Formats: sequence, C-alpha cells, structure tokens
Amino acid sequence: MEIETNTQTIQNYNYDLFVIGGGSGGIKTATTASKLGAKVAVADYVKPSEMGTSWGLGGTCVNVGCIPKYLFHSAANLGDLLHDQRAAGFNAPDQLTHNWETMTKKVHEYIRKLNWDAKLTLTQLGVKYYNKLARFVDQHTVELYDPKHNTTETVTAKNIVISVGGRPTYLENIDPKLTMTSDDIFFAKKNPGKTLVVGAGYVSLESAGFLNGLGCDVTVMVRSVLLRSFDQDAVTRVGKYMENKGVKFITGAIPDNVSLLENGQRRVSWGTNSEDFDTVLVAIGRTANTKYLNLEAAGVKYDPRNLNIYTNDVDATNVDNIYAIGDCAFDRPELTSVAVMAGSLLASRLFSESTKLMNYKNVASTVFTPLEYGFIGYSEKDAISTFGKDNIVAYHSTFKPLDWIYNDNVDLCYIKMVCLKENEKIIGLHYVGPNSANIMQGYSVALNLNATRQDFIDTVAIHPSYSEELLDLNILTSQDPLNSEGCKNCGL
Ligand code: FAD
Ligand code: NAP
Repeated sequence: MEIETNTQTIQNYNYDLFVIGGGSGGIKTATTASKLGAKVAVADYVKPSEMGTSWGLGGTCVNVGCIPKYLFHSAANLGDLLHDQRAAGFNAPDQLTHNWETMTKKVHEYIRKLNWDAKLTLTQLGVKYYNKLARFVDQHTVELYDPKHNTTETVTAKNIVISVGGRPTYLENIDPKLTMTSDDIFFAKKNPGKTLVVGAGYVSLESAGFLNGLGCDVTVMVRSVLLRSFDQDAVTRVGKYMENKGVKFITGAIPDNVSLLENGQRRVSWGTNSEDFDTVLVAIGRTANTKYLNLEAAGVKYDPRNLNIYTNDVDATNVDNIYAIGDCAFDRPELTSVAVMAGSLLASRLFSESTKLMNYKNVASTVFTPLEYGFIGYSEKDAISTFGKDNIVAYHSTFKPLDWIYNDNVDLCYIKMVCLKENEKIIGLHYVGPNSANIMQGYSVALNLNATRQDFIDTVAIHPSYSEELLDLNILTSQDPLNSEGCKNCGL
C-alpha cells in the first residue's frame, strides 16, 4: 500500500502516525498531525480503577483530573462565600447544607460533553479512534486488544507516539479495595464523609481543600512536609489557611494498616495510634501507565522505578520512530498544558518544516488548596543551591486582599520574588492568594521575556487588584514581611 502525506510517501504502513493514549497530549498530537495531512489513529482505553471506576475519552485531565477537581474546588469556594455575604449585608442563612448528588450530576454532565467533543473532533479530522488497549509487537507494529469483545488486531505505523499518562500509586501492603484514589473520588456516589487523605502533594492538598469546603471532616496524613519541593515560606501559609478552615494534619506518619469495620468504616493505624474514617483517599503520587505496553518488544528504554519513558529534547525515545510525551515521559512536569504543547510541537516537527522544541523550563503552575498557590521558576532554596547564596536576592510580602474585609481571614496571602542579584532578573515568583492561577498566567509571560524586578516596579498598577501586590516588592526575605493591609497603592 502507498500512502501520500504532505511531506513524504510512506510505504507499507497502515498509518503515518499511531498515538497510544487519548488524553490531553495524545489527542492534541493526533489532531495537529491530521491537520498537517498525516494519516493518524489513536488508541485509548481506560482500565477500571481498583474500585471499578471507569470513564470516557479524553484522559486524566478531563475525567479525573483538572476539570472535575476545579469544579469541586469552585463548588467548595461558593459555599465559603456565605460568611462574606452576611458581612456584606445579604440576608443569608446561618448554615448551608450541600447536596453531593446535585453537584456531581452537573460535573458528570460536563465531563460527558467533553468526552463527546473529543470523539467528534477526532471524527471530523479523520483520525481513526480505537477504543482498545494498545501494546507493542515491534517498533512499527501495535496490537490492539478489545477487552469488551476479547478480540485483537494489529496495525502498523511509521511513527508512534506514546502518551499513556499515569495512574495513582496505591499504598504498599494495604488492600487497595479499602482505599480510594483521585480516580474514584470524582465519581463517588455519596459524600465521602469523614476522610483521611494520605500524601501531601498537589492531589492530596487539593482534595483535602475541596472535601473540607464541601462539609467533610478531613485529616491529611503527611509523611514529611507539605508540598516538599515548593517554596516553604509560601507553603507555610497554604497549610495555615487550610488549618484555619478546619483541615487537620498528622505529620511524620504513614498508615501501617487499614482494616474494614462492620459499620463500613476503615480503621487506620499508624505507630501506636488508630482512628476510624468513612473514606481513605490515597494521594501519594502517580505511576506511568507503561506496564501493559510491552516496551521491550520495541526496545524502548524506561526508568524501572516509576516506569517513565526516557526521551530527549525532541521527545524521541531511544528508538528512532517512537516518541513519548506527557505524564508518561521521564522527568517532565505532569501538567495538562505541558502534554498539550509538547504534543502539538511534536506533531508539527514530524509533519511540517517546524523545528521548534518544547520548553519544559519556566512552566507556571497552581495548587488549588483552596487558597491558590501559583508559582513559576525557582523556590528561594533551589535558587540558592543552584546559583549560590551570594548570587541570589529575594523579596517578599504578606497582604490582605481588599475584599477580605468581609471575612475573618488573616493575612496569609503571600508573595515572593526570587532574583539573580547581578541584574535582578526574576527567576522565581510565588503567589499565595485568591485567583493566583489567573494572575500568574500573565506574569509567566513576563518571566519568559526575562523581566527584572525593575520592570515590575516601572509598571503602573491596576488598582485595586490582587496582582498589583507583585509590582512593588522591596522587603528582603531576611526581614519580616510587612503586612500591606493598609492600601499602599492608594498612595497612603
Ligand atoms: P492522560 O491524560 O492520563 O491520558 C492517557 C490516556 O491513555 C488515558 O486515557 C489512558 O487510559 C490511556 N491509556 C493508557 N494506556 C493505554 C494503552 N495501553 N492503550 C490505550 N490507551 C491507554 N494538570 C494541570 O495542568 N492542572 C491541573 O489543575 C491538574 N489537576 C489535576 C488533578 C488531578 C486529581 C490529577 C490526577 C491530575 C491533575 N493534573 C493537572 C495533571 C493532568 O491531568 C495530567 O498532567 C494530564 O492529564 C496528562 O496528560 P497525558 O496526555 O500525558 O495523559
Ligand atoms: P506528588 O505531587 O508527587 O505528591 C506525592 C505526595 O505523596 C508527597 O507528599 C509524598 O511525600 C507523598 N508520598 C509518596 N509516597 C508515599 C508513601 N508511600 N506514603 C505516604 N506518603 C507518600 O503527587 P500527586 O499529588 O499525586 O500529583 C502528581 C502530579 O500531578 C503532580 O506532580 C502534578 O504535576 C500533577 N497535578 C497537578 C495539579 C495542578 O496543576 N493543580 C493538580 C494535581 C496534580 P514526600 O514529600 O514525603 O515524598
């Protein structure tokens, strides 16, 4: 068979490009390649979680990641407005109750729409979609298994992109069926009740935050510290805010055992302690979804510890026609936008004249805890260990957003700017406060354009705003941050 593409003639392959994994990265790779004239197919299949939860096309972000997480976070924040509404003169009730089923119905409807949109986009662009599990037979051949009908077929492709993402890691030595993960929480049929969240990374703190906001009694079990690799001055405020909202923390602990009680609760024991919970949510990181792929058959190398695939600057594996992007690739930020941009740039390099590489550095991100902690670049500690103490200068400030006059929150909003001492080029920016994600998106453009502290100082503020607080930082982190509650930008 001879297949014409806009770039070359390929002989004997069913497809110019076969994408394994129809999540954020895979779908973007496939649609970009198809728009550039390539003959493309995608395989996507979701193996049910230990609790039996499964979902549709679109991957983690759409089904059990960013989207439901943000919608649960927003719902929790809506409930949190009650106090402010009363303080602002609204005749709001003293107490609110929350209906879990009403919220999840709305969220699931939206997810189903996104699943449908993904399918439609592939169809409209002529991308063949296989709802099947893919694994390698050799470097150009993929076996597709349909678990529903117990059938297999093989297809061949000139190029293969692996974008299989990851799945939550379970606790060793603990029956996974007694715990749930982020793969289950968004599809839980009822309010999870009294919940122990194990772990202290993004997923743990975000889940703890929204569950607490939705009325659950929440405890977080922390092995070392919260958000270990993040700027700890910022993280301290995140933790304190969560504590003020009612989240409890057990530090320096991991569960030794989880057992099922007659009343359906789980008894969790650690050290000499034990406590009963309705739900144990395990959020201790993720493992790449590469086990099923039979990477050995294609000769693709991967890290045996977390199963992430090794790639180079052009996102190629050690096998020249096989690429890997997104969460399954080794040492890449596990973020949707990273997978999407990497996929789009890779497809453009493969099927057009483009040579543009993905810039995996300076990627902004936000933890929605519910107070948002957005950041880009280095923490102060990492900057010092990379460039040396004498070459770094950092400024910080706490502040109270103007509209917090309607609530009792104390001044836990925090900003830190980490600069190279020589020219005060900003190499790290940290913002703990409302709307951090939206604020930091704009500032990430500035940092990617090599902005200096002076550039920020020279920028006229939008007033009143949260983000103006970043423009005039002048207190070194060696000094106590001043609380700028008294409206410095009113000229006072
Ligand atoms: P995925 O989206 O995971 O897609 C991989 C797909 O491949 C899946 O559908 C999988 O079932 C399928 N697959 C696997 N193996 C096979 C196979 N052998 N054959 C066929 N199909 C297969 N990122 C953000 O940027 N912002 C956020 O706010 C955010 N929140 C998150 C919240 C949670 C709770 C979680 C868990 C993650 C969050 N993330 C967030 C991370 C984000 O979801 C991931 O970085 C992103 O989805 C990765 O995309 P991907 O294409 O690499 O993989
Ligand atoms: P993570 O950020 O790597 O955090 C894992 C947490 O689990 C850490 O606190 C770690 O503690 C703890 N842990 C690891 N093994 C443990 C064990 N055996 N027992 C007890 N605790 C253990 O993982 P994640 O929260 O699952 O997030 C995965 C990725 O998804 C993130 O890196 C992020 O890129 C992405 N994500 C992004 C967003 C967002 O953009 N808002 C949201 C969710 C997820 P130690 O610190 O002690 O190791």
